[in-house]
Amino acid sequence: MRSGLLRLPAAGRRWYRGSGHRAEAGPHRVIDLRSDTVSRPGAAMRAAMGSAAVGDDVYGEDPTVNELQRRAAQLFGMEAALFVPTGTMGNLISVMCHCWERGTELIVGDRAHIHIFEQGGGAQIAGVHSRVVKNLPDGTFDLNELESNIRHDYPDPHVTRTSLICLENTHNVKGGRVLPLPFLQEVRELADTYKLPIHMDGARLMNAAVALRVPASDILQHCDSVSLCLSKGLGSPVGSIIGGRKDFIERAVRLRKVLGGGMRQAGVLAAAGLISISDMVDRLEEDHRNARTFAQGIKMYATPFCEVDVDTVETNILLFTINSPRATAEEFCRRMGEVSEEEVAETGRGVRVLLFPIYGHILRAVWHLDVSEEDTRLALGKLQFVVNKLEQRST
Ligand SMILES: *Cc1c(COP(=O)(O)O)cnc(C)c1O
Repeated sequence: MRSGLLRLPAAGRRWYRGSGHRAEAGPHRVIDLRSDTVSRPGAAMRAAMGSAAVGDDVYGEDPTVNELQRRAAQLFGMEAALFVPTGTMGNLISVMCHCWERGTELIVGDRAHIHIFEQGGGAQIAGVHSRVVKNLPDGTFDLNELESNIRHDYPDPHVTRTSLICLENTHNVKGGRVLPLPFLQEVRELADTYKLPIHMDGARLMNAAVALRVPASDILQHCDSVSLCLSKGLGSPVGSIIGGRKDFIERAVRLRKVLGGGMRQAGVLAAAGLISISDMVDRLEEDHRNARTFAQGIKMYATPFCEVDVDTVETNILLFTINSPRATAEEFCRRMGEVSEEEVAETGRGVRVLLFPIYGHILRAVWHLDVSEEDTRLALGKLQFVVNKLEQRST
């Protein structure tokens, strides 16, 4: 595996800030597949935010936040839940709650968001060391590898003690893969053997639940804590929610405050979160369908220039590979994002499709509520146009 994941921030900077590639600029249709974080709150959500009952949430007096936390705990099948500003803070708080003793070790996948996209917050802020196990293509681990990495020979002074196992569901970098329920059960049995808690980075937990057609609580019965993003496919402008036992959440409330996440009249945000968990879950199915349609289209119309494994598209994230010497992943993305006079002359329209190279020759595209079935067809047309032009070019 290439270490090219390190390239994402540089590419990301270009795509977020490059003047020619802003989502809002220009007269052309923009289809933004960079991430589901770009989804914007709709009219119903904005109306609910505008009329939310609020109070000071640091005093525990915001009725809308309290309602969101009550409903999220029910959704998770857990004792309690806590509203936090971001998924990154939700994961960090969870790690700090579980790894209360300074200098212990958590086990995490080598491609996990916690490990590669959160600035090493566990080490930087919480004093927790990470031990990585290799993520398999479906986002799981080899259970033997997991077990052989658990340190239980404490108090040998050479080693620290394992204090947590972290899972990610759906798995972002592995292409929105859904962790199979039997895998979760096996990890649970192993964790119980060594008396370890399990934290699930469930930024896209509801995508997993929709794909498996089970309640979220069926997935979480195998976990001690979870962090769910409200601001991705669920459409809220801001916010994540963590769940766990009552004593876990009591500790989390204190940690949220010291990390600067104690918000006051946060009910205006929680009102959006309530709509996210009640009205925005079922529609995730559409995103999954659109991602699959796009993958099938690539397979049909863009092979072998682009390579895709349709069977691995389980949710709203699609990975595909540029399999040609005629363009780098970066150049391919640039062409998808710009409109030439030639395109307008030949197709009668201009379509800008924004997406990222994620590592090496692999591109990531993510579906969300602002990308319709029609947008998906237009994006596919654009991809065919770009592939045809690149194929005509002599190398
Ligand atoms: C987006 C994401 C997070 C963090 O969420 P932020 O709200 O952006 O901090 C955590 N884990 C995974 C898997 C994610 O995709």
